[in-house]
Parts: sequence; structure tokens; C-alpha cells
Amino acid sequence: MERSNYLAIESCGKCVPCRLGVKRIAGLLEGIVSDLGVSGDLDVLDEFASYVPNGSLCGFGVQAPNPLRTAKHYWPDHFQMHIEEQQCPTGTCVPVRAHRFVTKHVLP
Ligand code: SF4
Repeated sequence: MERSNYLAIESCGKCVPCRLGVKRIAGLLEGIVSDLGVSGDLDVLDEFASYVPNGSLCGFGVQAPNPLRTAKHYWPDHFQMHIEEQQCPTGTCVPVRAHRFVTKHVLP
């Protein structure tokens, strides 16, 4: 999650998919580690992981979802347990939010 927050800060903002998509990824991950995620969040994360690189102008946006992809590839159970049982399987995730932000999903 820290990496996604860092990437959201470092995006120059020139193109919309990177500027907004990386922030959405970071926000969704914040919700998941705070045990506020819902099952649909994983699908939205997958959408953004393909949407951001496809619409980005430089290599930053193309590579930005890679930490998310790697985490989901190697630790899928970690995401599932946070969402389904509202607890961290390793006991290391620190909640950063107290409530869930509801945003309208606009991707087709
Ligand atoms: S993809 Fe590159 S040019 Fe586009 S907003 Fe991100 S950092 Fe800027």
C-alpha cells in the first residue's frame, strides 16, 4: 500500500488514467488493509491494473500497477482474508481508514 501511495504522489498528472487510476488503486488498497473492502474491490483493482498502463503516455504509468499485480499474484489469500474475514492473515497490516469512501465506478 505504501508503494501505491508513493506512486500516486509521484505521478506528474499529465494523463488522466495515471493521475486518477493510481490514486484509485492506492485508495482501494487503503480500504482493503483497513478491513473495509468489499469483494468487488478486487475486480475494480484488476480493471485499473489494465486500464492505467493502456492509457498512460510514459513508462511510469505503464509500470505503476506492477506492485499491485505482484502482490495479487503471490498473496491472493491475503487480499481475500482482509475482505472476507476482516483481518490480516499475518497481523502486520495497520488500518489507515475508519470508514469506507464510496465512489462511483465509471469504467465500462
Ligand atoms: S503516465 Fe507518465 S506522463 Fe502520464 S501522468 Fe503518469 S507520469 Fe505523467
